[in-house]
Amino acid sequence: MIKHSICDICTPGVHCGMELEIEDGKIAAVRGTPGFPVSDGKLCVKGLATAQYVYREDRIRTPMRRIGPRGSGRFEPISWEEAFDEIAFRVNQAKDEAGPESVLFMVGYEKWMRSWLQRLAFSFGSPNYLTESSTCNQARVLAWRAMCGAMFGPDMGHASVCVGWGYNPAGSQHVAYSGLKKFKQRGGKLLIIDPRRCEASEIADLYLQPKNGTDHVLAYAIARELFTTNGVNEEFLQKYVYGAKEYRALVDPFTPEYAQIVTGIPAEDIRLAATYFHAYGPMCIQCGNGIPHRTGGFDLYRSIISLAVLTGNIDTVGGALPSSMSFAHCNTGTASREREFILAHKFRTLKTAVGANRFPLWNEMLTEGQGMALTKWLESGGEYPLKAALCFGVNHMMYPQSERFLRAMDRLDFVVSTDLFWTEMCRHSDIVLPALSSVERSEIKCYSGKYIYYTSPAIAPFVDGKDDVEIITEIAKRIVPDDELLCSGYDASARWMLEPLGIENWDEVKAAEGPVLIPNSKPYEIGSYLRNIPTPTGKIELCSTIIDKYGQIGLTGVPHWVKPEENREFPFVAMTGARIVYAIHSRCHKVPSLRRMRPEPLVDINPSDAAALGIQQGDDVEIYNIAGSVVMKANLSNVVAAGEISMYHGYEEANCNELIDVDLLDPYTGFPSYKQVQCNIRKV
Ligand code: SF4
Repeated sequence: MIKHSICDICTPGVHCGMELEIEDGKIAAVRGTPGFPVSDGKLCVKGLATAQYVYREDRIRTPMRRIGPRGSGRFEPISWEEAFDEIAFRVNQAKDEAGPESVLFMVGYEKWMRSWLQRLAFSFGSPNYLTESSTCNQARVLAWRAMCGAMFGPDMGHASVCVGWGYNPAGSQHVAYSGLKKFKQRGGKLLIIDPRRCEASEIADLYLQPKNGTDHVLAYAIARELFTTNGVNEEFLQKYVYGAKEYRALVDPFTPEYAQIVTGIPAEDIRLAATYFHAYGPMCIQCGNGIPHRTGGFDLYRSIISLAVLTGNIDTVGGALPSSMSFAHCNTGTASREREFILAHKFRTLKTAVGANRFPLWNEMLTEGQGMALTKWLESGGEYPLKAALCFGVNHMMYPQSERFLRAMDRLDFVVSTDLFWTEMCRHSDIVLPALSSVERSEIKCYSGKYIYYTSPAIAPFVDGKDDVEIITEIAKRIVPDDELLCSGYDASARWMLEPLGIENWDEVKAAEGPVLIPNSKPYEIGSYLRNIPTPTGKIELCSTIIDKYGQIGLTGVPHWVKPEENREFPFVAMTGARIVYAIHSRCHKVPSLRRMRPEPLVDINPSDAAALGIQQGDDVEIYNIAGSVVMKANLSNVVAAGEISMYHGYEEANCNELIDVDLLDPYTGFPSYKQVQCNIRKV
């Protein structure tokens, strides 16, 4: 029997369509669904390993209560009713003793259920909704909103030039990588800028490899070159942009010759790169999520998108277009009531969230706490007591100095973890609940602003689990029983949020074997954003007036570059987290066929450095700094320049996030420095 579903192992923008062959109720084979929006019949190796993923031995089978010390792994099975009642009792107890803000509502990588968890937090009275987005994409959202009033995305399909800055979809999204190759086939010009060589740099027309931590100077030098060679779009600047004069003064000292000294890129290549931004037609910038993942990363990201502003590639065909993620991080092609659903109980009237006072810009522009401030808060006692956490897919390995985070979480009186698999976070929890995978549950997904797909379970649950929203709903019934809409469950509340889509017969949508057209969806009218720019000045702000008012804590309206100091004790600059197609974070490392493709944790070292340190291919090496240390296998490779290393992430036995200093956070966003880590390396 053939069943249809979606893979949700990676980002919601993709979620490829899957056909599953079911034999005796179990998945026998998996392939892509032909003609499916976005993925069109293709799956990556992770999606193809869905059966191994779903039937992993370490799936959580039934609700469990801890009976040994935290981390001991000693649990006893309990019923769902017992679990829900105990959760409600302990959470209400925390509220009575220390206020609703003492309860954390936390989520890891999952996105489809976030609106429900956020509403539960706010409905309960806690501002402490904390997500993995504290280290992922939100810094980019913040930058676009601060400068342009809205998030933008590249119009790759109509661009003549693509500038990929820290962008290598080959390791993360096969759909985007196919798009990049198609772009090249139709004659598009590709400029890749990345301190690490990658698949994208191999197909680029021009590849620039700045020293890690210097590409901010490169962005300034390109901006200066645009100003001095008539590469800026003067008409666009006059009409739509605030702060162009200040920006010109800012970048003026950064000549290509000076940038050559700092970045290691020849001045003539910088001049050539500048032409890509204006000389060949519409230009879009593809910036990887990793750009803001460093101290100073927010300013770097702003300096990169400023290049799109200077050349007028905003709200134009083939440039950057406003992106409208209006339901579950996807584009419905029309408005939805998701924000109304989430914010029914006003975030701003609640107590300030974790990280709000430390990162006021984040707090002003987003409706969630900054989770990277949590470790220090728990260690120091914080601004008010925290007592309990309801965690959904929270993975301690995502956090900087992960073990330190785990020990900090141990200070809470009560922790619940809902997950597919047994993780260290689960082993340190009081109650553990089994979640269902995407092929064992239903979900509403929207694609390309055009299609809606209401999936049905392809197989009966492999475990005694419930889907995340059902778990949230059952907890809501016990702790916020007056919140009728939230307590009505997934189907009713999702339909409420999606009412503006104009769907008259939901039963038909549900019965369809695949995506159907959204009645009210409309293509974006290009140029409509420029008619009413939603910033304080009514213009695109190269000098952000929203940020400028935080000058007293060192934030600046224009992006700033701080020259790194020489560090003799830790002379290497490491980057972590380059994606490999077989894994996403740590979640696929225990899928046998995927693990076989990259069995050991590797660190890429330039052969010249390896020779100087007496390191050979496959040697065990220790990478260390003041935050921690980790042992990996040396992989001698020219993907990194001399003086730099690159570590792959997600390995329990060699977690590179132990090297990421929990105190070293970007002052605008609170993002840790995953991509620019001072360290040293030695053979062990
Ligand atoms: S993991 Fe692979 S198959 Fe699954 S949604 Fe992501 S890209 Fe598609």
